[in-house]
Amino acid sequence: MKQAKTCAVIGSGIAGLAAAIRLQKQGFDVTVFEKNTSAGGKMSELNANGFRFDKGPTVLTKPEYVEELFELCGKRASDYWTYKAVDPIFNYFFEDGTVVRSSKNVEQFAKNVEANTSTSASSVLDFLEKSATKHFLTDEVFLQRSLHKIKNYFNWSTLRGILNFGKVDVFRSMDTANSKQFADQKVVDIFNRYASYNGSNPYLAPATLNVISHYEITLGTYFSKGGIHRIISALQDLGEEIGIKFRFNSAVKEIVTDGNHATGIRTENNLENFDLIVSNGDVYNTYKYLLPNSAAPKRFIEQPRSSSVIVFYWGMNRTFPQLGLHNMFLTNDSKQEYDHLFGTKTLYEDPTVHLTVSSKMNTKDAPEGQENWSALISVPHDTGQDWNELVELSRKRVIQKLNGILNTDIEPHIVFEEVLDPPKVNAETNAAFGAVFSNSSNSMFSAFLRHPNFSSQLENLFFCGGTAHPGPGIPLCLLSAKIASELIAEKFVVEN
Ligand SMILES: Cc1cc2nc3c(=O)[nH]c(=O)nc-3n(C[C@H](O)[C@H](O)[C@H](O)COP(=O)(O)OP(=O)(O)OC[C@H]3O[C@@H](n4cnc5c(N)ncnc54)[C@H](O)[C@@H]3O)c2cc1C
Repeated sequence: MKQAKTCAVIGSGIAGLAAAIRLQKQGFDVTVFEKNTSAGGKMSELNANGFRFDKGPTVLTKPEYVEELFELCGKRASDYWTYKAVDPIFNYFFEDGTVVRSSKNVEQFAKNVEANTSTSASSVLDFLEKSATKHFLTDEVFLQRSLHKIKNYFNWSTLRGILNFGKVDVFRSMDTANSKQFADQKVVDIFNRYASYNGSNPYLAPATLNVISHYEITLGTYFSKGGIHRIISALQDLGEEIGIKFRFNSAVKEIVTDGNHATGIRTENNLENFDLIVSNGDVYNTYKYLLPNSAAPKRFIEQPRSSSVIVFYWGMNRTFPQLGLHNMFLTNDSKQEYDHLFGTKTLYEDPTVHLTVSSKMNTKDAPEGQENWSALISVPHDTGQDWNELVELSRKRVIQKLNGILNTDIEPHIVFEEVLDPPKVNAETNAAFGAVFSNSSNSMFSAFLRHPNFSSQLENLFFCGGTAHPGPGIPLCLLSAKIASELIAEKFVVEN
């Protein structure tokens, strides 16, 4: 075991905060460096003209991973942050007027599907059971531990996965599996859409990713009281209480090295020594900008990127009773939409729109009688497209799509607007190519090709966050922080 005392965490995204809390609790003296003026990264919020928006995530699953951090510090999570179950989870709107609602009551959801489509309730329940099995077989092996340590393969859960490999469903795409499972294309489209949750293409991504529906429907989706950004402020409060030091407006410019050891970090004005360094920044950019003299591991760095997003944050001067917290307006041709996103890297004329209205749950998010809309569409990552032009085009298409289904001209009701696009995602959070979900999961090997939670060149450099193993999304980012802190504990003991 080596000795260490001080630790720098680069970035205060959800994983950076979680890693900092775990490491401070382990006894290290942790300082978090964040280039922005506040914490949260992609989980930041926007307050303007009486409206509040979560700029990034709106679908919260596995809240117990957040609670675990408070428990670890001997605190009660509910003293800092609370949440409640969402039901219905999603309202799915189709061009022909069909509406299907997903529910935390799976039987009810299956009945809703049967009542509104030609798919039977039993095939939905069968699908969700298969998704639960995928979760059971893959969770420990693929998500809870480092995939890059040989010793982690010699255990019962790996053997169980190998013995039941067929049920993990890696050899066919999500779309192939879902088209076989469901009689109705609408239901195929609903379940294919889960590929977008990590920026992937259901026509390529392995059917293993159908496990995402298990998280959202069977395990449940939750609403963070006060908004998702509350999670960030609660974790920051916890971090400050246990002694973590936060340095905002402090962009790290270089990780300074000596042989196979990282000795410290350089910011604009300072060079500070640290015994351990954890990067929560995008792995690609960490190598490119902070470690210009280290050879980047191409195998992990040069993987195809995920899709990105354009989000319109709209303050609406009236309410829309037909909407819930989460609403999905589905495209008329899902294949075309994904071919555009991942093939030609352009935008399809009829986009799927994920419309979140958090004021349905948190009335303070909009003035009385009004609503806060986040209208999100998937777009390709940034390869130099003209984003001003694409934002303008998307705005027209999104409004046209919503007008058609809601049977109202929504544009006159937009009284506030701000937009997020791939270059802004990059500028705000240092996400290479503005890819919101780092690498795509469009191949059966993708899980193995995310960057490990440790550096194989620098003995005291570790990684957490959506661009490292096990991947993007709040639950996985929290697991990445856990894995990184466990790897540190295996190698370093706190110096007294
Ligand atoms: C629009 C949108 C919708 C999403 N929807 C969902 C959803 O519904 N559910 C879900 O679970 N997930 C969703 N996600 C994904 C989720 O938000 C991310 O996977 C997650 O928040 C990433 O966290 P992270 O810890 O990797 O860090 P990030 O949020 O990427 O933050 C990294 C931080 O590091 C800082 N940083 C980077 N480089 C440096 C440097 N050199 N010096 C100092 N600081 C630096 C950045 O400023 C940033 O604050 C969504 C994301 C977006 C953008």
